[in-house]
Order: sequence, then C-alpha cells, then structure tokens
Amino acid sequence: MIDPFGRSISYLRLSVTDRCDLRCTYCMPERMRFLPRADLLTLEELDELASAFIAKGVTKLRLTGGEPLVRKDIMRLIDGLSRHLRSGALEELTLTTNGTRLAQHAADLARAGVKRVNVSLDSLNPETYARITRGGRLAEVIAGIDAAIAAGIRVKLNSVALLHDNLMELPDIAAWAHDRGADFTVIEVMPLGSVEADRIDQYVPLTEVRRRFEQRWTLTDVALRTGGPARYARTSDGGLIGFITPLSHNFCGSCNRVRVTCTGKLFLCLGNAHEADLGALLRSGDQEALSRGIDRAIGIKPERHHFAIRERGAVALDRHMSVTGG
Ligand code: SAM
Ligand code: SF4
Repeated sequence: MIDPFGRSISYLRLSVTDRCDLRCTYCMPERMRFLPRADLLTLEELDELASAFIAKGVTKLRLTGGEPLVRKDIMRLIDGLSRHLRSGALEELTLTTNGTRLAQHAADLARAGVKRVNVSLDSLNPETYARITRGGRLAEVIAGIDAAIAAGIRVKLNSVALLHDNLMELPDIAAWAHDRGADFTVIEVMPLGSVEADRIDQYVPLTEVRRRFEQRWTLTDVALRTGGPARYARTSDGGLIGFITPLSHNFCGSCNRVRVTCTGKLFLCLGNAHEADLGALLRSGDQEALSRGIDRAIGIKPERHHFAIRERGAVALDRHMSVTGG
C-alpha cells in the first residue's frame, strides 16, 4: 500500500476497545461516554479486518485502545493473529497497554509470540500516579512490567510530559526504565478530544523536558530511526530516550501507519478527520470490496497533521486518543 505521498503503509494500529479501567486526565474525561457495545466489532471481525491489512502488506500490528487488555477474551484474538507471525506475513505483533492487567497476561502474550510491549506510565509516585490516572494502582503496573520482563518480553515505557504532574520526575522514570533494561520514550500531550483540564495548562514542549534530562546526563543524539515518530538520544549511562514531538516538531514525512478503531473506522492520520468506514464493507462479507475500500482510503491519506496548542480551550479534533487508538 503506497499513499499519494509515496509512503509505504506497513503498520496498523488496531483499537480493540474504547473502554479503559483508568481515566488519565489528559486522555479522557472522568465521565467518558463510551461507544454502545453493539457497535464494537466482534473478535472474529477484528481478526478478519487485521488479516485483510496483513494480506495487503502490513507487517507490523499493534493492538491498542482504550485498554486492550480489558477487552473480554482478548487472548483469543491475539492467539488467532499469531498465525500470521508463524506464516511470516507479520514481522511483529505487539500492544500498547497501561499495564494494569499485564501480570495476568504476560506469559500468554509471550507464548503467542509477542516480543515487545509499550507500557504507559506517567509517574513512579503512587499518589501522583493515582491522581493522573484517577485511581490507578501503581503496584499493579510495576508487577505487570516485571512479569513481562520475566516472560522475556521487551518493555518500552512511555510517559506523556505533563507540566505540573511529572516534568520534574521524568529523568527518574527514564533511569528506572533503563535500570530494568527498558527503553524510555516521552511524548508531548496532544489536543485530542476534550477533557476537564485545558491542554494548554498540561503541555510542556520536549525542548524543556530535554533540558531536565541534560541536568542529569550528557545526551548524544543517535541517528536510530525505527520507522516511528520518535527521535532518539543516548544518555551518558548508555540508556536510550525517545522524544515524540507532534507539536513542537512535525514528523509526518516518514509516516508509515494507519489506525482502525474498534468499530472498523479507518483513520488515515491521528491529527486529521480523514476516515473510511470499513465496518460495513467487512460485514458485507465481500473480501474484494473490503480490499478495494482499503485501497481507496489509503489514496486519501493526508500529508501531515497541524496540531497546535496555542490558545485556551482549543481542541484540534473532537476525538479522544482512546477512540482512535494511541
Ligand atoms: N490504554 C493504553 C495505554 O495507556 O497505553 C493504550 C491506549 S492509550 C490512548 C495510548 C497512548 O496514548 C498512551 O501512551 C497515552 O499516554 C497516550 N495518550 C492518550 N491521550 C493522549 C493525548 N491527549 N496526548 C498525548 N498522548 C496521549
Ligand atoms: Fe486509559 Fe490509556 Fe487513556 Fe489512560 S491513556 S485513560 S490508560 S486509554
């Protein structure tokens, strides 16, 4: 699949649910309205849709949400999709998780061929963690990370930089990750969907975050590109830090990904409204039509996003990250 700007699309992020057991303050409002259950694709439909993309050249599949591990019987989907790893069609099957249920699933994930997971963790202080996530228990996530590492799964920790909640703590989180052999990536908060707080009060550019890291380590930029939006630097201790800067530095030129929601909507870009409803095509049972629908959609992938947090109250898109799949 090649888009109009010559980018080869080989990476699918599939949201398996919009629901979550946490309510991170920058991600969703406390009283989030979730989609009607009847609108969600079944596990069989999710498998079929992912498989259609794999047949068209997707080699990397990331399950996300909402929280993927709260979806009932999620292991049935993952076990099923692992056939594409065995056939060689898929190079990587992975997920992004908040880690609260990782301890329960780590061994099964490893058995299914999951070799890496991204775990989102914005604080190592139990109170701060509970405040940011509105009730999350840090110990569960740490147990999940340890279980994943014990099962032989590589963990990457992701933190969203939040001016008042964790800016000072980010170097400690990076050091903690590195001590466990995990990479660490920090992300700028994006104006996706409204939440109670104003993102302008949460946002801190990663130039400022980097300055904090540089008070602790000498950072050396490394040319490493993983096909994703992160730019990397190595600390003087040898640990890797990724910087994802959707606002302060646009990275769309090398974008290789598309997103599908748990209702079968294909989003061509996290920061644009362009979408295609693949659910109806999927339910028609006509695989040729589904394949053509995917081709048509790739043909409208926008060149870039235009995020900005410049003024109070501005929300770039009325679409939460938990719906599109982060
Ligand atoms: N629940 C899982 C988790 O938290 O890892 C997967 C879904 S979550 C939407 C995926 C990622 O998006 C998380 O790392 C989260 O911190 C990030 N995220 C959510 N809302 C965001 C926002 N408005 N700006 C930047 N990152 C956001
Ligand atoms: Fe849930 Fe992940 Fe959003 Fe936090 S960031 S509320 S864990 S979906």
